Amino acid sequence: MLKERNEIAGNLKWDLSVIFKNDGEWNKLFNELSGKLDFSKYEGKLGNADTVYECLTEMDKVGWDFQKLGVYAFMKHDEDTRNSVYTALNSKIENLEVQFSSNTAFMTPEFTALPDEVLNSYIANPKLKDYDYMFKCIIKDKPHVLSKETEEVLAMGGQVFGGFHDIFVMIDNADLPFPEIDVNGEKVKVSHGMYGVLLQSPDRSVREKAFKAYYKAFISLINTISATYIGSVNKDVYLSKARKYKSCLDAALETEDVNPIVYSNLLESVNAALPLVHRYVKDRKDILKYDELHMYDIYTPLVENADMQLEYEDAFKLVKKGLAPLGEEYGKLLQKAHDEGWIDVEETAGKRSGAYSIGVYSIPHPYVLLNYQKTTNEIFTIAHELGHAMHTYHSNKYQPQAKSDYKIFVAEVASTVNEVLLLKYLMKNSTDKKLKKYLCSYYMDMIRTTLFRQTMFAEFEYEVHTKVENGEPLTKDNMNAAYLELNKKYYGNDIVSDDEIAYEWARIPHFYRAFYVYKYSTGIISAISIAERIYSEGETAVKDYFKFLSSGSSDSPVELLKLAGIDLTQKKAFEAAMKSFENTLDEFEKL
Ligand SMILES: [Zn+2]
Repeated sequence: MLKERNEIAGNLKWDLSVIFKNDGEWNKLFNELSGKLDFSKYEGKLGNADTVYECLTEMDKVGWDFQKLGVYAFMKHDEDTRNSVYTALNSKIENLEVQFSSNTAFMTPEFTALPDEVLNSYIANPKLKDYDYMFKCIIKDKPHVLSKETEEVLAMGGQVFGGFHDIFVMIDNADLPFPEIDVNGEKVKVSHGMYGVLLQSPDRSVREKAFKAYYKAFISLINTISATYIGSVNKDVYLSKARKYKSCLDAALETEDVNPIVYSNLLESVNAALPLVHRYVKDRKDILKYDELHMYDIYTPLVENADMQLEYEDAFKLVKKGLAPLGEEYGKLLQKAHDEGWIDVEETAGKRSGAYSIGVYSIPHPYVLLNYQKTTNEIFTIAHELGHAMHTYHSNKYQPQAKSDYKIFVAEVASTVNEVLLLKYLMKNSTDKKLKKYLCSYYMDMIRTTLFRQTMFAEFEYEVHTKVENGEPLTKDNMNAAYLELNKKYYGNDIVSDDEIAYEWARIPHFYRAFYVYKYSTGIISAISIAERIYSEGETAVKDYFKFLSSGSSDSPVELLKLAGIDLTQKKAFEAAMKSFENTLDEFEKL
């Protein structure tokens, strides 16, 4: 039986009283805020710098309250999801947000309609310096903003364009006929959740049955899924053409303010490093002693039972030691997080599962939710989430409100830097050969799934979008063929590319958000390069890294990474990450 929340010691729970002492305070602020949402007095007046200043600072004030109210309701709800009081607070604040964004919807079009010289004068205006990057982006996006009427027509299509994603979600969550398989005499349904578990089974026949059964469900609906995905790609092409982008890829990159060369660097570097993946596959085949390695043999652990079963306090101390290369200040801050109620540690009845870090500008510090269990993976989770928290902490501390929230492109960098640093520390200081082997395989699997696999997805997306952009038809057969080719290219000749794997594209929900997955790859590449740099260069690298941690969204994410010495417009950072994979592979083979 799980413990109830009131049975947990106070030092293992987060302290939300620094946000609101009680729900009464929350309601009081909510009522005040409801009366502050009328921005109509600024409509039609954004051509004047002083009015703009007034309008944007008032926006910040309102945003301050919204964040505070939102984050409190969200975290309170996660403490015990059975408690409907906080479900209600969450929907109250969400409704108010919808109202506010509709009240302020005039702003972006009005700014966009201003002549460049006016916008440039805003950028140069010291009073408006908190908003300079926002105005730069508005100027940059101008060629892709259409006439008022056309924008209205496109806005009306929002729900229609989202339809393909919604259809896939329904297929994926409700309609897939997952079969049952026999596991040690018991019938087990191969659902999404069970699939991941079964593919790690030490019993190979279970893995094979699970793999075939899972794909059978997708194959049985493949005509519907194909039509849905083709519709989604056509929608991407339509919208990118309507907005006068060169391609769907350009549209996605420009929206995030990412230089297109980053994307081609990624694809080229990963392709050049594929022999390393092939070597990893060969090692796996040798260790498992199979004549033929199959796609269902790729997730089974190579090293078993190497769990460090540490109590939370010991795990936290270990994480701190692992992160010591980041300097004394960082260590002190981690301790503060531990001592002052930033972290909610234990699993309790009704608590939201998993782990996350959350923080907004208007609360004193970020928070971390854990459901700590005594496994090695969970120790890495502590390091990971604290990485997010420290990124948020520094960006909120050193940036103005308008530039504090970092973009998705860089969101997984700080968390992964921490994981890599902890891994390096454990590799260096452990004498346990089994644990070392485990750590090597943990790291290699992280790189294989986050770096290589996501790049393979990115290549697939690129191929299918380019086909449609060139006026070629897309069919389930040519998508299957393209995917199978990629799978063979990525995994090499030492694994059998089973027939089912050609359909893997059909089960990836992220494909309904075009050109999103490559960010996982560039994120881990940046993190590995930063961690390697911190290890080899020490203090200078740490100083640079703190500049990045403190940079929020003050510039293009590619520029911000340069602060940490990582230039993704060059190949060097990519090569450093591949080298790190190669070194681990060497070490693993030696062990
Ligand atoms: Zn994360």
